[in-house]
Amino acid sequence: MTIELAATDAYLKETPAQVTAVGDDGVVLERTVFYPRGGGQPGDTGILEYGDGSLAITDTFKKAGVVYHAPGGSTPPVGTDVVARIDWERRHLLMRTHTALHVLTAVIWRDFDAKVTGGNMEPGRARMDFELDSISVEFGKEVEGLLNAALHEEHEVEVLFLPRAEALADPDLIRTKVNLIPESVDPIRVIRIGDLDKQADGGTHVANTREVGPVRVVKTESKGKGNKRMRIELGG
Ligand SMILES: [Zn+2]
Repeated sequence: MTIELAATDAYLKETPAQVTAVGDDGVVLERTVFYPRGGGQPGDTGILEYGDGSLAITDTFKKAGVVYHAPGGSTPPVGTDVVARIDWERRHLLMRTHTALHVLTAVIWRDFDAKVTGGNMEPGRARMDFELDSISVEFGKEVEGLLNAALHEEHEVEVLFLPRAEALADPDLIRTKVNLIPESVDPIRVIRIGDLDKQADGGTHVANTREVGPVRVVKTESKGKGNKRMRIELGG
């Protein structure tokens, strides 16, 4: 098991660590700041530095509870002391993008009673699908206004670890299907954004919605009955 530091501090850019295994899947460290892809958020990239060498990390993923750092070159042997450092610019943009998606989800639920059916994100851009009957350019503009207004309210983003029983009894978390989380997971990690949004979630987010900055709805499209897609981009 790798100690996953990003779960409790998304702002950690690097950590000293030791290589505990090296295999076909990649490098395993005893602790890491790298986020393994999941929940729609891509895995981190970055670098491992050691002695007089370094190794680029091209992706991070989890398999059977183990975090693997995908190597972009030859790997250091087991036992090597390294400094593991993420590509912070990319990660911070992902944190902003991920947080924007939570607020988008919250606004669509609050004002239009529509749930999310799916989504995906890249640094600075994302798409999200909703159980909406119809969608239009005008609707996209309206949502853009509501989304930016909500971000401007400067909501704090908190990471909570709730006892499983408590999480399963929470109406907000029930709505976002907390019951589908494997029974062995206790406590359950929850992201709360002020009084806007609360979800069981493994990803990394910014500490306050003001850090997201302006977001644009760049495209709206129908993906079939009761399934409408919205694409967003960060930046002015
Ligand atoms: Zn999230």
